Amino acid sequence: MRNVLIVLSGPSGVGKGTIAKLLVERNKNLSLSISCTTRNPRDGEVDGREYFFITKDEFRKKIENDGFLEYSDHFENFYGTPKDFVLAKLKNNDVLLEIDVNGGLEVKKSYKDAVLIMVAPPSIEEVRNRLIKRNTETLEKINLRMERIGYELEKSDLYDYTVVNDKLDEAVENIEKIINQEKNKCK
Ligand code: ADP
Ligand code: 5GP
Repeated sequence: MRNVLIVLSGPSGVGKGTIAKLLVERNKNLSLSISCTTRNPRDGEVDGREYFFITKDEFRKKIENDGFLEYSDHFENFYGTPKDFVLAKLKNNDVLLEIDVNGGLEVKKSYKDAVLIMVAPPSIEEVRNRLIKRNTETLEKINLRMERIGYELEKSDLYDYTVVNDKLDEAVENIEKIINQEKNKCK
């Protein structure tokens, strides 16, 4: 079986982080990549665990040194996937990236065997409910994230799979099936 690079994307609030956490808890060979970001840590977030929190200057230097598999700037901050970190992990593990759609499509350009999975909500309103329930963003920021939903979901066609996160357990199991299927493919 091969090690696979899985990309999980979808609108903010759809449940990617929740799903990713369960996937790595349940699958010992699966390792979550850690992105770099210039945004501030939220309460409870730890540098080197949720993200590598770096300054805009550090981020720019890393771009110049070709240090990212992909990066993007949205919500007024930069987010990027550190190249060496991911390729080193892939030698021994399956690796999960939780990144936005443009990032996912960029990864696929440079790493053709990446498996792109879109996490879709059961409804748009449910995303708002989940963001309000999560209580980590102001209403203004929630509205900004809501405006992006259509744009992200439109790109589903370019993804390899779409999984609806209605019942959490079912979504996780469906993604596990996809991972196992992909691991058994000969490439
Ligand atoms: P994302 O990482 O996509 O921004 P999160 O994983 O932070 O989203 O989830 C947003 C909120 O929705 C969290 O409060 C989480 O507990 C909740 N959530 C995730 N999946 C489900 C689900 N299937 N049903 C109901 N609530 C969910
Ligand atoms: P948050 O600030 O809520 O943690 O993340 C905001 C958005 O940035 C989410 O849609 C998340 O998937 C995306 N994101 C996180 N890390 C990366 C990354 O490394 N690259 C890209 N392109 N997007 C990322």
